[in-house]
Amino acid sequence: TGTPVTVLGLGLMGGALAGAFLRAGHPTTVWNRTTAKADDLVARGAELAASPAAAIASAPLVVVCMSDYDAVADVLGGPLDGRVVVNLTSGTPSRARALAQEVAHRGGGYLDGGIMAVPEAVGTTDAVLVYSGPRPLYDAHESTLGTLGTGLYLGDDAGLSATHEMATLVLIWGMLDGFLNGAAILGTAGVSATAYLPLAQTAIGTVAGWLPGYARQADNGVYPADDGTIDTHLTAMAQVIQESESLGVNAELPRLVKSLAERAAAAGHGASGYVALVERFREP
Ligand code: NDP
Repeated sequence: TGTPVTVLGLGLMGGALAGAFLRAGHPTTVWNRTTAKADDLVARGAELAASPAAAIASAPLVVVCMSDYDAVADVLGGPLDGRVVVNLTSGTPSRARALAQEVAHRGGGYLDGGIMAVPEAVGTTDAVLVYSGPRPLYDAHESTLGTLGTGLYLGDDAGLSATHEMATLVLIWGMLDGFLNGAAILGTAGVSATAYLPLAQTAIGTVAGWLPGYARQADNGVYPADDGTIDTHLTAMAQVIQESESLGVNAELPRLVKSLAERAAAAGHGASGYVALVERFREP
């Protein structure tokens, strides 16, 4: 049997976390506001605690996954002496740092985390979970946390998990909006989103291959136009907007993209490569 663990919050994600611990043989204590959500886990061997405090007392490692930080603060209201709290609830970096202090005042250790996966993937290496907080705490519980998926330690600052989560969300939204916008354009030509898939997936793969070089340019602040200038992109952007308008599809996304590129050109980057846009994203 593995290290005893407690899971607070048995929603879609919390239930999956507790299930993964049980499958791996960890003695697992659970608590949820709505007790019925524990039934299935109890049938699989979990211990149901009568209160958050009783659940916290049951194991050295306390994993929390709830709707938001207000709910987390409610259940962590009592003493936490010697407990390591791993909060996998999505939130902001500032809330994570404040909660880290609060947990420390109560005598506990705190790791913040983020789950970059859907509940079904939890418990497999496909699920990526990020963690931040004191390195010794992560090292002490790395193998237990490894039960949940592939762990990625980001650094001492408890806020780093939420910062990475924010960054990843804007990346995902950008890709999904781009795909859906493209599907809408193709829809005007009678092409289905499914038919667009091979080209769309290839394009995402191609762009992924550009990232190492683009990341280096973003870090160095040098944007050589090896593969096309911002001015060239601007010409294409204007065409996409005009054509979208005449096709009667939404042109908000290309308009936003063009406005960023125009500001980059106005700042002297018309002949630079696309990565020069990073400076516009660094502004308020
Ligand atoms: P659910 O809505 O399924 O579960 C929410 C949980 O929070 C439930 O256990 C609920 O209890 C509990 N809760 C809410 N308010 C309170 C409160 N005031 N006091 C006590 N308990 C409370 O959400 P998920 O499980 O899907 O999400 C949980 C976290 O995981 C979120 O931060 C989400 O962003 C993150 N996440 C989820 C993913 C997903 O695919 N689902 C993916 C990645 C991250 P009750 O059952 O009593 O309502």
